[in-house]
Amino acid sequence: MNAFTLNRRAVMLTAVAGASSALVGGGAALAQAAPTPLSGNAGHYRFRVGEISATVLSDGVIGGPPRVYASDAPEAELQEVLRRAFLPTDRMTLNLNTLLIETGGRRILIEAGAGATMGPNGGRIFQNLAAIGLGPTDIDAIVVSHTHPDHVGNLRAADGGKAFPRATVFAPKADWDFFVLSDPDLSYMPVPEDFRSRFAAAIKSSVKPAMSDVELYEAGAEIAPGLTSIVASGHTPGMATFLVHSGNDHLLLTADLAYHPVVNVDNPWLPGPDRDMGAALASRRRIFDRAAADRIPVLAFHFPFPGLGRMLKTDGGYAWVPANWQF
Ligand SMILES: [Zn+2]
Repeated sequence: MNAFTLNRRAVMLTAVAGASSALVGGGAALAQAAPTPLSGNAGHYRFRVGEISATVLSDGVIGGPPRVYASDAPEAELQEVLRRAFLPTDRMTLNLNTLLIETGGRRILIEAGAGATMGPNGGRIFQNLAAIGLGPTDIDAIVVSHTHPDHVGNLRAADGGKAFPRATVFAPKADWDFFVLSDPDLSYMPVPEDFRSRFAAAIKSSVKPAMSDVELYEAGAEIAPGLTSIVASGHTPGMATFLVHSGNDHLLLTADLAYHPVVNVDNPWLPGPDRDMGAALASRRRIFDRAAADRIPVLAFHFPFPGLGRMLKTDGGYAWVPANWQF
């Protein structure tokens, strides 16, 4: 067996592992696995919103079949759109763009990231925090838009304790009631039953260290000076989006209103995991319209890193315009 054969075998094994688990947002079927080695490229991106210093910190990537994220797309059209965007037609990669802001003397992380809950390529946030000279004890608060595993996965350390020992966790009350305090019916999710049960279990185990002292908020509330939540329910019962603001400067975080700009902005297809597709669509339009009308810079959690850009209103819908890289 020569080196080529070995490499090809390794590639095929990887492909099989990917195919067997390529489900909603979900790499290796909610498995625990160590992150694969990094390429060495930056996983953090600094900028400012007025007086607030902000840093996108990548937690890595997850992914699944494009169909999951574009549930109503005609198959041939979906394939053609992906090909024209130079994207794979069998798997869509989603980024995990958490945002660290420093405001009111506190370091606040918006979204915790997936950790190991949705495949082996999450859990990078700790390396990326270290790269900017910070550790988990430097985080004062973590605010999540909703409680899906890719947003709360890093709350739990490997030993079951708090991964961010000093951080107060803020979560939307309606999501906490639905996913954490009850046994949710997830039959609306376009994935196999065993995936749904692992998904539900991953939420409960991820948030367990925060059970005793979580701060539950109602979407619309001011969470900290310069950080306001915005009602955006539909994807989940309580999902919020956020506005970071300082003086005349704003940044709109769109959470999971869209998974990927090619299928949910440039094309208006509906994400399969939206629990109430009509409400999610109304939230998406209301918030995208605001972003476009006011020309507000946007951070989209799952878009290609660092996920910053603007929303443009077009004749038929919207277009995503990525921001230029700032050195
Ligand atoms: Zn998500």
